[in-house]
Amino acid sequence: MTATLAFDQYPTDALMRVTQRPEAVFVRGLGSWLWDSTGQRYLDFVQGWAVNALGHAPALITETLVHQAGRLMHTGPGFYNDQAIALAAELTRLSCLDRVFFTNSGAEANEGAIKLARKWGQLHRRGASTILSFGNSFHGRTLATMAASGKPGFDRLFPPALPGFVKLPYNDLAAVEAAIDGHTVAVMLELVQGEAGVVEAEPAFVQGLRRLCDQHGLLLMIDEVQTGIGRCGPLFLHSAYGVRPDVVTLGKGLGGGVPIGALLAREATSCFAPGDQGGTYNGNALVCAVGLAVLQQVARPAFGATVQARGEQLAQGLHELSKRHQLGAVRGQGLLRALDVPGDAAPAIVAALRQRADAKRPGLLLNAARPGTLRFMPALNVGSGEVELALAMLDEVLAELTVCGG
Ligand SMILES: *Cc1c(COP(=O)(O)O)cnc(C)c1O
Repeated sequence: MTATLAFDQYPTDALMRVTQRPEAVFVRGLGSWLWDSTGQRYLDFVQGWAVNALGHAPALITETLVHQAGRLMHTGPGFYNDQAIALAAELTRLSCLDRVFFTNSGAEANEGAIKLARKWGQLHRRGASTILSFGNSFHGRTLATMAASGKPGFDRLFPPALPGFVKLPYNDLAAVEAAIDGHTVAVMLELVQGEAGVVEAEPAFVQGLRRLCDQHGLLLMIDEVQTGIGRCGPLFLHSAYGVRPDVVTLGKGLGGGVPIGALLAREATSCFAPGDQGGTYNGNALVCAVGLAVLQQVARPAFGATVQARGEQLAQGLHELSKRHQLGAVRGQGLLRALDVPGDAAPAIVAALRQRADAKRPGLLLNAARPGTLRFMPALNVGSGEVELALAMLDEVLAELTVCGG
């Protein structure tokens, strides 16, 4: 056991303050559980922001990391390595896409998708370069992916914004049809807008987008950084919508905690020429070995069935809590779920659940996706007892807080 350290014993000022963090320092994790430096424990329903598909410190990942680190970590992008080849082959076998470019993050995968669309426009659409994206969407924090995002306030940060994006209302097919012109090259969207508070695309909207893209010769680019790798039940959520995208981006769950993303394209869309795209660490053997181990685990039919079952258990429990405490809507699929709460109560509920931790009882880590929305993104292998415990803790805190319901 390591000695316990109080929060103020850590020199946290050495870190740039890019976000508001609670006063706890996490030092250890196992499965659905996290421990802070004072020894308090937390049931973790954030899991690195829907990243730790197999929970904290899963043996599969630690063993793969140790084995691969002692064998080969990195050759640089100018050489093939066996792990990148194997992971790309597995991703193409399991999806309707044909070619893969590996990245270090979801934003970098989307940045690559934007570049691919512009290149494709030069080759096939007389230089068309405008990408249609949607209000409240989130595609990352690079300058191009911020310009693609519809997150309120993003457009005023770091001017000048990269041109070439038109934001449209989500689930409004007529608005998309009206916006298409000779400059349009692609439509880019999330099937569930995670950061917006788990807002789902309607199947008719997504199928309509596929039709419009076919009619006008545009690329349909689906950002599955959050929804992919089993998070919503199916390995890739677009399969549940019955559409075949031209481009898909992955991140988060693919590495199960190690940084890796991927840009996937159909053969006809895969138009990068040598020199167009790259990156020193992209496709390094260490993270690709982990990605392959995670993918093979998550792609098993029994694994997806368990995600669906736990997801339904969570949703059912949230519906009951919503009724009992007079809260709002329950949204989402698989293990990406949200519960609306009155007014702007979500941050206070999140804080109370975390601060509930003491020497005897655990806390619960949740995310307030919006001031009025709680978001749930547990490990994909979370146990039914852990889902039950999370719901019980939430029930207790909701009963204590007068901000919600009766
Ligand atoms: C998290 C996220 C991103 C950005 O991924 P990073 O790894 O943080 O760069 C992009 N798109 C969606 C839908 C996301 O949820």
